[in-house]
Parts: sequence; structure tokens; C-alpha cells
Amino acid sequence: TGRLPTLAATAAHHAAHRPDEPAVECAGRTVTFRELHLRSNRTAHALLGAGGVPGMRIAYLGRDSEHYYDLLLACAKTGAVLVPVDPRLTPGEIGHVLGDSGAELLFADPGHLRDVEGIRPGLPALRTVVTLDEATGDAPVLADWQTGHPDSEVPTVPGPGGALVQMYTSGTTGAPKGVVLAQSTFWAINDLLARHDLDWLDWLPGDRSLNVLPGHHIGGPWWFLQGYRAGATNVLAQGFDAPRALALFRDRGITTTLVVPSMLQILLAEPGAGPEAFAGLRKVVYGGSPMPEPLLRQCLEVMGCAFAQIYGLTETCASAVCLPPADHVPGNPRLKAVGRPYPGVAVQAVDRDGNPLPAGEVGELWIDTPAVMTGYWKQPGQTRQVLADGWLHTGDAGHVDEDGYVYLHDRIKDVILVGGENVYPAEVEEALRAHPDVADAAVVGIAHEIRGEAVRACVVSRPGTRPTARDLRLFLKDRLADYKAPTDYQFLDELPRNAAGKVLRRHLRDE
Ligand code: ATP
Repeated sequence: TGRLPTLAATAAHHAAHRPDEPAVECAGRTVTFRELHLRSNRTAHALLGAGGVPGMRIAYLGRDSEHYYDLLLACAKTGAVLVPVDPRLTPGEIGHVLGDSGAELLFADPGHLRDVEGIRPGLPALRTVVTLDEATGDAPVLADWQTGHPDSEVPTVPGPGGALVQMYTSGTTGAPKGVVLAQSTFWAINDLLARHDLDWLDWLPGDRSLNVLPGHHIGGPWWFLQGYRAGATNVLAQGFDAPRALALFRDRGITTTLVVPSMLQILLAEPGAGPEAFAGLRKVVYGGSPMPEPLLRQCLEVMGCAFAQIYGLTETCASAVCLPPADHVPGNPRLKAVGRPYPGVAVQAVDRDGNPLPAGEVGELWIDTPAVMTGYWKQPGQTRQVLADGWLHTGDAGHVDEDGYVYLHDRIKDVILVGGENVYPAEVEEALRAHPDVADAAVVGIAHEIRGEAVRACVVSRPGTRPTARDLRLFLKDRLADYKAPTDYQFLDELPRNAAGKVLRRHLRDE
């Protein structure tokens, strides 16, 4: 199916060629490729019946389930645009996403209905609320809302260049913006790899893929569609819970998955997380935040499979750079890189004026990729700033080496300025994590009267240990220049993270 131009064509192809194979498994339920195709045809007809397509925004507020992907395919078949909403947001934040996107239909888990009723008066565009499951109340249930519509093919299907998803960035910085992504961006990278016969993100017949990233994060739908296009089975974990994920690896024949590094750390600390639990595992793709090298070594040892790192942003539809499995050799200095651009993607580091820097020099990373967003929804000014001169300005600081490998230093916004010197949090965090009593660490800048900013370390100790600020100060003395050493230590039970495993630094600054 690699060359099929649209998801609608892919769905029809799978329904004809592997009708009874499982497309989605979720909470003990199985949906075959044929069922998913027919169901999403029905949903597509229902959407057309509701009017407003193409371009109509429909929001999804709930846990991952087969319903999410039924709706996603129906969007591809009609030109409606799916707006996934993080179910952990407050009613006010949910209202912001629904209002900003102008969602006309909302599909919600029953548990959210009361909150939605509360914010609904402020949402004039919202015409219909449908619940994903049985609920008491007035909202129709999805299955009933679909009833009466045919499961035949939709007559005119939009092309792959139109918007499919509008993803709100998780807001680890600033107010969430709606990133509009076209259907074709979801496999633009696969097309590049296929053209160059590279297997960096390969799929094999019979792959069973575990989805732990939520549908409101780019990793969720991107990874799902990777597997779906290839005809693999997507097993939905409905969020990351270490014991449940471990049971799925062990008992459900999982061959591949996409994770963020913190998930691997938590998973491998689970009792029973030995090589036998990962016997069927073939490949792990990871990204989203820095991978500590000791953790990677442990993963290679225990999981015993291929690893690939990806680097990218919601704005690049997940992945623009990849560290392929062949580079995952313990001791390889390139393990410090996030990877190299796919053939057909370019990455450069630039100075403050946007001039390209020579190899090895640190600046803002700019990316030129075919898998780029259309823009930020209703934010032409911000879009112009971020998408200027054919490059996506990432806001990440990093450098590119002579061989084109990309190294990330930190977010430009996260860099701490201590008396005029740049301190990269990732470097300090790595030094802290090297202490045997430190399980996890995050570093942020806090205001300082004389030096402008000072370094604060937020530390999670290993169970049974109680390192003190003095211990850690002594430990870092030979490892870090004075100005980089934290002057303020906070000991926490865990680091605040968003659903994608990213540390919420603003919370740590406010502590
Ligand atoms: P916001 O954009 O609102 O701040 P966010 O940070 O969660 O939210 P994403 O698009 O999910 O937005 O994250 C993209 C960022 O994640 C990149 O800019 C980079 O800083 C970081 N990142 C992505 N991949 C990697 C990786 N392999 N290693 C380290 N950091 C990564």
C-alpha cells in the first residue's frame, strides 16, 4: 500500500486484501480492517449528513480507542478535520481548544459531558455533542449517531493535500496553538525512505504495534498511521501505565512501538521487566526528549532489539531526523546525536540573524522538510515567523556535524543565562543523573538579583537513598564549570510531566 495516495484508498485496499485481520485491538475488543473501513464509511456519511465538510472541525475528547481512528479515517474520507483534545485539560483549557478551532461536532467520553455542558454557552459553533459510550443524559451515543447511514464508499474523496488533523501543541511553552497538518504529511517521510531504499522506519508483515502515546499528541496518530498503512495491527494501550504496558509486551506479541525515553525508564524498573518479557520485540522507536545514554545501554541489553531515535516537532508531523538502528552501538559517539535528516530533508544551525553556521557551531536549528504543517490555525503572524524562507524555525538550539548528524543542546527558550553565560539544562541534567542516588533530574533557570538567572536543580532520588544538596554539589564540582552548577536544589517525588513525557519546566520554575 506504500504508494496509495490517500487514506481512503488505503482503507479500501486493506478491506479487500486483509479483511479479517485485526486492524485495532483495544481493551479486549478487536476491529478488523474490513470493519474499520465499513465503520468509517458510515461515520463519513454521517459527517456529510451533518453538513459543513470539507474543512469542518470535529473534536475528540476522550481516551484512545477504535472510535478515534474510526473518526480519523472518516475525516480523511470527507475532508473534515480532527481536533484531538487532551482529556486532562481543565474545562477552561478545553473551552479554549474548542473555541479556537471552531469545532462544530464534539465526540466525548461520558465522563466529560458535565464539564462540556458547563462551557457550551461560550461555544456558539458547537452544534452537536456525541458520546463515545453509553451515558445518562441527552447526548446521542456514537453508535446511534451512525445508525441509518450506509457503509458504502463515500462518492467523492478529497485529495491528500487537504488538512486532516489540527493538533494543539502541548503547551510546555506559551498558549497552545492549533497546528494544521495535511493528510500527505503523515507519510511524506516514508515516501522519501522508500525512494532511497532505506529501512530506518520499516514495517514487516504481521507487525503488532503498541500505541502508548495519546491521540492528542502527534506521536499517537502518526505512529498509528505508520502501522495502519503497512497493514500492521495497532494495539492501543489507552495511555502509558507501566504494569499494563509490560503485560501487553509480554502477552500480546508486540513487535514494535513508539515511546518517549521516560516511559522506557519506568518500564524497565517494573518487576518482571526482563528479556523474556520482550522476546517478540523487533524494534523500538523513541524520541520527544533526550535519551540518557545509560538508559539506552540498559534498553539494548534488556530489550535486545533494534532501536531508532526520531527528532521532530508537531509542526514537522513527528519526525524530520532519525538516528537509525545501525548507529545504536554502545560507545558510538553518535549516540549523542538525535540523528541525521532523512534524504530530502535539510537541517541547518543558524545564528541570531539567520545566517547558516559552520559545522559544529551551536545555533537555532532550522528544518526544510516535505512533512511540514500548513500553518497555525488563524495565526498568520506566528505562522510567518516560524515558517520563513522555506525553513521551519524549531526554537531548538543545536549543531550539525561534518557528516550531517544533528545534536540537540536545548530549547532556546530553556537555555539559562547565568551572568551572560549560556547554561544548557540537558548538560547539567546528564551530570546530575550520573550520581548513583539520582533517579531523575530537571534543571531550570530562576531569577537572580545579580546574575540575572541562577540554576535550579529538581531531583528525584532513587528509592532508599537520600542525597543532600551538599552531596550533589560536591559530586558536580569536578564535572561542571562553576557557573553551570545549580545553586538551588529541590527534592521531588517525581517530575511533573505532560502526557508525552515531557518535563513541565514552567511548573518547576514556579515551585
Ligand atoms: P510546545 O511546542 O507547545 O512547547 P511540546 O514541546 O510538547 O509543546 P512538541 O512538538 O511535542 O511540542 O515537541 C517538539 C520538541 O520536542 C522539539 O522541539 C524538541 O525540543 C523536543 N524533541 C523532539 N524529539 C527529540 C529528541 N529525539 N531528543 C530530544 N528532544 C526532542
